Amino acid sequence: MAPQIKYTKLFIDNKWVDAKSGKTFETRTPHDGSVIAKVAEGDKADIDEAVSAARRAFHRNSEWRLMDASRRAVILNKFADLIERDSKYLVELESYNNGMVVSMANRFLASTVANIRYIASLADKVQGDTIPVDGEAFSYTLKQPIGVCGLILPWNGPIPLFSNKVTTALAAGCTVVVKPAEQTPLSALALAALLAEAGLPPGVVNVVNGYGETAGNALTHHPNVNKISFTGSVEVGKLIQQAAGVNNLKRVTLELGGKSPLIVMNDADLNTAIPCAANAVFTHQGQVCVAASRLFVQSGIYDKFVEEAVKHARARKIGNPADPTTQNGPQVDEEMMNKVLGYIEKGKKEGARLLTGGKRIGNTGYYIEPAVFVDVKDDMTIAREEIFGPVQSILKFDTLEEALDRANDTNYGLAAGIFTTNINTALQFTKHVEAGTVWVNTYFATGPQVPFGGFKESGIGRERGINCLEEFMEVKTVTYSLPKKI
Ligand code: NAD
Repeated sequence: MAPQIKYTKLFIDNKWVDAKSGKTFETRTPHDGSVIAKVAEGDKADIDEAVSAARRAFHRNSEWRLMDASRRAVILNKFADLIERDSKYLVELESYNNGMVVSMANRFLASTVANIRYIASLADKVQGDTIPVDGEAFSYTLKQPIGVCGLILPWNGPIPLFSNKVTTALAAGCTVVVKPAEQTPLSALALAALLAEAGLPPGVVNVVNGYGETAGNALTHHPNVNKISFTGSVEVGKLIQQAAGVNNLKRVTLELGGKSPLIVMNDADLNTAIPCAANAVFTHQGQVCVAASRLFVQSGIYDKFVEEAVKHARARKIGNPADPTTQNGPQVDEEMMNKVLGYIEKGKKEGARLLTGGKRIGNTGYYIEPAVFVDVKDDMTIAREEIFGPVQSILKFDTLEEALDRANDTNYGLAAGIFTTNINTALQFTKHVEAGTVWVNTYFATGPQVPFGGFKESGIGRERGINCLEEFMEVKTVTYSLPKKI
């Protein structure tokens, strides 16, 4: 049964409001393409109103600014409690609007709650330094919230991405305007309602749904926004970096795409490596920023590996994401499905060999069979561009040196992995590979305690980890006169 849709308006100043233009847009379920609801379509006028609300909430005498950091943590922990209370509903909503299989939505929800609690625990641990200065002075540093932050989200992990960005900004004491992805607006609105229920004062969190070119663009150009934290594609990330410098000089954090290499050495434990490599690229239908979309397999085990990889791709259970046993659901929308099918055609045309999958399933919904390509060369489009679909590209290599050079031959640098039983091989690889996250004999393992972000064009800045609040704070140096003699 379809989940009830409780919220479809914009959330500004803790109130539900229509877009000033009165416009709405349709949001669909990727399972069959049917319309779920019409959602208020915010644009520049609504962003202006939301930024004003966030600015008022950031005033030095506001309830939010006068609140103790430990009280902010209480509200964030309450938010986590409410997510747990509503977890069944939120999982159904996420799966329905996004196509994410419920087993994954459940895992994401559990990790979201853990992440919020970890971030909440950092709120009252912010400290500066005391610094002796040569001469007759001493200094100390204050770490203070940056101000009003624009948070722009992608569609591939709506609940964890909303929760992570919002709670980090709030723990640091900022106020925010969130622009969720136009494909998946519903869970952000449900979470905004929970934040209000948790006791967040008006204007601290505002949610304006709408399109990137209108609402998103207005947020990134707004002169009263101090920072943009963005997760999405490299293409849009570059636009955001440019926009941030047009009307003021916004601080920018970018979490962008990847073309992550996974290396399997001859000495690897194949019982672990083969299923792990399949999961690393097929999970969430390949719509994962760290997806292992370039799989380098050493020549000694290549043929055996390929044979098993095909079996794993064929064995994946594809179907309605609401079924708890489903492993692969639909792509998020028709446009993404066609984009992925286009990459598969290009792969074939450029000479890669498709061993299994790669076709659309049925005529309703946006389902694609998991595909395995071999004979993939480094300069082929499928080995260079982020596909964001269930497409495993297998490349053959002979030596570690060669694998490293080829793994690093990309503008991306989000994640990488290696399967080996040789510690020296692992140490050399982890040292030299250009990626923000490197996994050894595993893939995807993570937690709130570990920093996450990209090298090169995969991003700027880090999220999560013990220093995550720093991205939402300014350092102020205060210097006092301290005469040498009494
Ligand atoms: P996208 O870049 O198309 O859109 C992301 C957001 O930006 C959306 O809310 C969109 O409306 C907005 N936007 C678009 N144009 C804009 C503009 N001109 N100004 C301001 N905002 C604008 O990305 P997507 O297709 O939603 O998400 C998929 C991408 O996100 C992939 O590249 C994936 O790798 C990446 N991603 C990265 C991470 C990470 O942490 N590194 C996590 C998840 C997804």
